[in-house]
Amino acid sequence: MKVIVAGGFIGLEVAENLLSAGVKTTLLEFADHVMPPLDADIVVMGVGVTPDTQLAKDAGLKLGLRGPIVVDKHLRTSAPHVWAVGDAIQLTNAVSGLPVLGALAGPANKQGRISAHLLHRLTATEICWAAFLDGEVPCYS
Ligand SMILES: Cc1cc2nc3c(=O)[nH]c(=O)nc-3n(C[C@H](O)[C@H](O)[C@H](O)COP(=O)(O)OP(=O)(O)OC[C@H]3O[C@@H](n4cnc5c(N)ncnc54)[C@H](O)[C@@H]3O)c2cc1C
Repeated sequence: MKVIVAGGFIGLEVAENLLSAGVKTTLLEFADHVMPPLDADIVVMGVGVTPDTQLAKDAGLKLGLRGPIVVDKHLRTSAPHVWAVGDAIQLTNAVSGLPVLGALAGPANKQGRISAHLLHRLTATEICWAAFLDGEVPCYS
C-alpha cells in the first residue's frame, strides 16, 4: 500500500497515476476536503505563476518583469559567476523576441543539462557555488 500526504494538485496527480497502475493507495489530507472547495461544475485555472526570486534579488541579480532572473543565452545571470535555470529564469519568446516566463519541466531539465555542460567547459577557478548558500559565495580552484 502507498500513502500520499496532502490532497493538493500534486498529491492527487500522484494518487491518480498509482491507482490507474493498480496500486492500492491511501491519501491523507488534514482538511475536510481535497483541493479548494469551489461552487462550480467546471473550473479552469489559468492564473499563471510568478517565480519566488527573493534570494536572487537579495544577491543583487538583475530581475525581469514579475521577478524572473535575467540570464544571457548561456544561462549566466548578471553576476559573472552565477548561473540560473528553471522556472526562476526569464526566457525569450522565439517568435516575438519578447521576455516570457516558461514554467515547464522539460525546459527546466534541459537548462540544467546545458548549464552543467557549460560549467564543465570552464576552468575550475571560474566556478563558484552560489545557489542557496548564506553569506559569502565560496569558489573552488
Ligand atoms: C501542479 C503542477 C503541475 C505541473 N505539471 C507539469 C506538467 O505536466 N508538465 C511540465 O512540463 N511541467 C509541469 N509543471 C511545472 C514543473 O513542475 C516545473 O516547471 C518544474 O518543476 C521547474 O523545475 P525547477 O527546478 O525550476 O523548480 P522546482 O521544481 O520548483 O524546484 C525548485 C526547488 O528549489 C527549492 N528552493 C526554492 N528556493 C529555495 C531557497 N531559497 N533555498 C533552498 N531551496 C529553495 C524549492 O523548495 C524546490 O525544491 C507543473 C507544476 C505544478 C505546480
